[in-house]
Amino acid sequence: MKPIYAGFVGKGNCGKGTQAKILADKYNLQIISTGSMLREWILKDPNNFWSQKLKQDVDNGILVPSAIVFYLWFSKLLLLDYRQGVVFEGSPRMLIEGQAMAEVFKWMANNQFFVFNLNIPDEESYTRSMNRRYCPVCHKTYSLAFNPGITHCQADNTELIIRNDDNPEVIKHRIQEFNELVIPTIEFLKSQGVLYEVNGVGPVEEIAKNIDKIIQEKINQA
Ligand SMILES: [Zn+2]
Repeated sequence: MKPIYAGFVGKGNCGKGTQAKILADKYNLQIISTGSMLREWILKDPNNFWSQKLKQDVDNGILVPSAIVFYLWFSKLLLLDYRQGVVFEGSPRMLIEGQAMAEVFKWMANNQFFVFNLNIPDEESYTRSMNRRYCPVCHKTYSLAFNPGITHCQADNTELIIRNDDNPEVIKHRIQEFNELVIPTIEFLKSQGVLYEVNGVGPVEEIAKNIDKIIQEKINQA
């Protein structure tokens, strides 16, 4: 079977991380999460100039320059056996990132390249972000909507935190930025025939099933 390359786009808290993980588990794909990589980078050497600059942007919900995103992608991608396949969680965002991804995977002659847009309304993104709690050790996130009153990580018992970028101002900014900067990327990927719209509201398993159906249809066509 040819390797699968998949990207996930969508507003904050549309379920990108959860769906990326499910997909990676099912098809044995490597996950490349630029968000987690950035947060690890910042935690590793918090006083470094780059870390401080990146932290400022991440905390304020500002998209970091695409060149840095490319660095993060390829620092992992080039070390992998390309036959394994990859899931990009939360990428691409900027138009140039969508163009780069399409260029690379066409060059690799990979017709099993998918970008899923997990569609949720703006209000849903806002509510989910306000309910999010985060484990700084294993990066697992929890929702107060599903785990009312949860204070510690179920995996490692670390005290959960509210991420700096989960405050009303930043959340609103992220939604606005999505609508201005990511929608053109989605339109571009549509024109390339690799963008798949998926409803991001509903049970996790059902959304995962819809995503897998799209993948299975494409595999069966090949
Ligand atoms: Zn944890």
